[in-house]
Amino acid sequence: MAPVRRILLKLSGEALMGPDGFGYHAETMAGFVGQVREVVALGVQVGIVVGGGNLFRGATGALSGMNRATADSMGMLATVMNALAFKDALQQAGVDVRVQTAVHIAHVGEDFDRDAAVRHLEAGRVVVFGGGTGNPFFTTDTAAALRAAEIGADLLLKATKVDGVYTADPKKDASARRYETLSFDEAIANNLAVLDTAAFALCREQKLNLVVFNVFKPGALKRVVMGEDEGTRVTF
Ligand code: UDP
Repeated sequence: MAPVRRILLKLSGEALMGPDGFGYHAETMAGFVGQVREVVALGVQVGIVVGGGNLFRGATGALSGMNRATADSMGMLATVMNALAFKDALQQAGVDVRVQTAVHIAHVGEDFDRDAAVRHLEAGRVVVFGGGTGNPFFTTDTAAALRAAEIGADLLLKATKVDGVYTADPKKDASARRYETLSFDEAIANNLAVLDTAAFALCREQKLNLVVFNVFKPGALKRVVMGEDEGTRVTF
C-alpha cells in the first residue's frame, strides 16, 4: 500500500518531556525525530502541531488565580518554545524544517501563512506550527484539526502514549480492548473522549480522517501512514 500524501501530526507537550516531569527529554525527542524522518523519506508531507503542556497550561494558571486569557497567551508561547525545540531536533537530524507561528514573534519563525506552508510541504520541508490557534480558550488539539483542514491533510494523527482508543481504561479494566476503527458517531454514542470537543466537531464537519496512536512505539508513525493496523482509525 502507498503511504498517505500529507499528514498533520499532533504532538503534545507532555510527549516531549518523556519520563521527566518538565521540559524536554532528548532521547525521547530523538525517537520522535527518527519516526518523522522515516516518513519524510517515504515522500510523506508532514505538518506538526505541538502542544505546551510540558511547560505551561492556561487552565493551570487560571486555577491559581490568573486571568484565563493571559494564562492562555502564556500557554501559546510555551507551544512556540516547543516548536523551536522540535525544529532544532529535526534540523540536527538533517531534516529540512520551518516553524510557523500563530502569534507574531519577530525573528523566531515565520508567521502562519497557509499558502507558504503548503509550498514548504510540497518542497519536502516539514512545517512545525507553534502558537496553537492564536486564540485563548482553545487547545492545540483544535489547532491540529484546524491546520489539518487548512493544509488539506489526508490524515490527522494524534500522538499519545497509549495504543489507541479503548473500550475502557486499559490500566483499570483488564477486559478493555482497542478499537481498530471507530466512527465519529460511535465515539459520541460511547462517550469516548478522542479529541477535545471543538477539535472533534471540526474533524467531523470537515470529514478529516483521524488516527490516535502510540508515538512511543518505534515505527508506529510509519505503520500508520502505510495504512497498517496501528492505533485507532476514526472515520465516517
Ligand atoms: N493554547 C491556547 N490556544 C490554542 C492552543 C493552546 O490558548 O489555540 C494554550 C492553552 O493555555 C493550553 C496551552 O496553550 O493549555 C498548551 O496547549 P495544550 O494544553 O493543548 O498542550 P498539550 O496538552 O497538547 O501539551
